[in-house]
Amino acid sequence: MNNKMFYLILLSIVLGILGGIFLPEQMIAIRWLGTLFINLLKLIALPLIFSALVGAITSIGNTKRLGSIGVYTIMYVLASVSFAVIIGLVLLNVFKPGVGLPSELILANVPATHPAKTLDFSSFLLTLFPPNIVAAAAKFEIMPIVFFSIVFSIACISVGESAKPVMNLFNGLRDVFVKMIIWLMYLTPIGLFSLLGSAIAEAALQKRLMESVRGMLLFIIVFMTGLFLQCLWQYAIVRFIKRKKANEFIRHASNPMLTAFVSSSSIATLPVALIAAKQLKLTDEVARFVLPFSTTINLAGTAMYEAVSTLFFCQILGMHLSITSQIGIFITSIVAGMGATGIPEGGLVTMIMVLRSANVPTSALVLLLPFDRILDRFRTMVNVWGSLVCTATVDHISTAKQRQFIEAEPVSASYADQKNDVAIA
Ligand code: ASP
Repeated sequence: MNNKMFYLILLSIVLGILGGIFLPEQMIAIRWLGTLFINLLKLIALPLIFSALVGAITSIGNTKRLGSIGVYTIMYVLASVSFAVIIGLVLLNVFKPGVGLPSELILANVPATHPAKTLDFSSFLLTLFPPNIVAAAAKFEIMPIVFFSIVFSIACISVGESAKPVMNLFNGLRDVFVKMIIWLMYLTPIGLFSLLGSAIAEAALQKRLMESVRGMLLFIIVFMTGLFLQCLWQYAIVRFIKRKKANEFIRHASNPMLTAFVSSSSIATLPVALIAAKQLKLTDEVARFVLPFSTTINLAGTAMYEAVSTLFFCQILGMHLSITSQIGIFITSIVAGMGATGIPEGGLVTMIMVLRSANVPTSALVLLLPFDRILDRFRTMVNVWGSLVCTATVDHISTAKQRQFIEAEPVSASYADQKNDVAIA
């Protein structure tokens, strides 16, 4: 992001906030501008994910290196999602925001009207491998696309020479999509202005929301603190690997994080995150592989939300949760966070699985719905931040390993020479 753009974005935020407070109706009337911006991002997101993944995997080429990058990513994701859930559970146990709230809040609710899709392990696996990849793409299901792209790329690598034109085609396509995103980025200030302004206007107009906030205030504060702590430990990693350039990292990460806030979708933010990775000078192939992969499974903010909400409901219902039941919430929240889709309120669908595992009625979700839209914005920001830090970390480790390998080469060569000499002698 150049300086001019950075100031334009700041200006659009200030104007959006002022517009939302003082001209709410007008801001809601121009919300379509922001929707247009998000639609354009989404339009490019899926073809970009596919071509970026295929391009990245085939240019890494070496399946061993690809495997190790994949393993580092999965290890990071597991650690990050687990920390998120642990932070959330510890905070809830310490501050107990649900204790003392009337259980009628949950029990009086009619069954939730929200997507009451069941999600057990087998149906989760089936969603990963749908019979029709185009239909999955149309429903914005990113997991099957990611899996399909990975298998497709590995097949290209093993076919070898005759698959070269296919690989070149995808590399070319990816460059074209990246160009389109760079053009789209010029619209960011307009998109931010309209989306932020209309969101604030909506909150200002919804007095009911403000009234019901009181009972939930402690829960919201505790959850926000958890998200902040999650960002903080990852910032420590950024400081460790980027040292003096840590602030530059934050500056470049701010654009995708703002986009995450206004779009509530990690998938829609992915194109912007890829541009940020370029500005951060992360290795191209690593970023193009790790970012989409991490956006699919590294929804740490969502996992934390699922765990804290479930425990919050249990506290309201006066359910005593033993350590074993909390371990159950811990495990299901990790799976639910990794299985959630990076779309607005995507986490609510998988939350049903966590609620069921703790025997909490799914109708309890109704309690969260008035706040979910705003909380979603913050957890999406944390999800996107987590994916960027994950990419930077994996890049750091794999570059260091690569360097070690290159440095080790002459040693092994001279060792081979010595061996030859001995053999000849
Ligand atoms: N909106 C979140 C995301 O896109 C998912 C969720 O927590 O609902 O990352």
